Amino acid sequence: MVEAQGPFDDRRETLDAIDPVLADVAQPALIARIGGETIPDRLRAACAAIDGRLVFTTSFGIEDQLIAHHIFTEKLPVEIVTLDTGRLFPSTYQLWQETEERYGVRIKSFHPDANSVAAMVADAGINGFYHSKDARISCCTVRKVEPLGRALSGAAAWVTGLRADQSGQRAAVDLAAWDRERGLIKLAPLFDWTRDRVAAECTSLGIPVNALHAKGFLSIGCEPCTRALQPGEPERAGRWWWESDEARECGLHVGADGRLVRSKAAAAA
Ligand code: SF4
Repeated sequence: MVEAQGPFDDRRETLDAIDPVLADVAQPALIARIGGETIPDRLRAACAAIDGRLVFTTSFGIEDQLIAHHIFTEKLPVEIVTLDTGRLFPSTYQLWQETEERYGVRIKSFHPDANSVAAMVADAGINGFYHSKDARISCCTVRKVEPLGRALSGAAAWVTGLRADQSGQRAAVDLAAWDRERGLIKLAPLFDWTRDRVAAECTSLGIPVNALHAKGFLSIGCEPCTRALQPGEPERAGRWWWESDEARECGLHVGADGRLVRSKAAAAA
């Protein structure tokens, strides 16, 4: 464990028992404990500071590929899982296979409950998400949010590939936050990286990435809900592009109050 530094020395026990309101106090202390410049440094420090399972969810985006590379090559004690919605691009499944072959691993996958999918399709249609936001949220809940809950069951921390300069609601992303919705620590080791820096690092390290990135698909999710960006569009504009409001997230990355959890330091910036 890292050296004790204050009122939250028994980090895991404290965070387990903490009242959600107090999480904003604990969060900056935790960030100070797991700070570091490189991704491996940050992940190693998080593993040392957090007593429990760390689970990284990859959707095989470029950020996820960079984090996975470090976890695999440096054999960090972080579990890697993916959510197979059943509606992913063929190139994503191709990259999944390529990644397993490159690193000699098998990535555990979580799938939607078959009965829930059948009921949803019977009610809204196979592509009902184009016709109403309720149907879209329902689909994301069945295909993503519920399987995520199973993937994170019993985990102490959730490692993500989020960056703060992605468009949408992600400006508030911090290195570590308390996820009030799921009752665990949420980590974003790339929170202060730019997309260009991530892409350059992947090129430098020879990390396989989704072929769609080179065709204007910067943020890649399910095939029917992702399109290539037009010139000048923000990074996540290609996701659920037919919806007019700005709050276009699938429900994976929200706190209990419907917003991304934000540290006091980030809020004051
Ligand atoms: Fe369904 Fe689209 Fe959400 Fe995928 S992104 S779960 S297809 S609504």
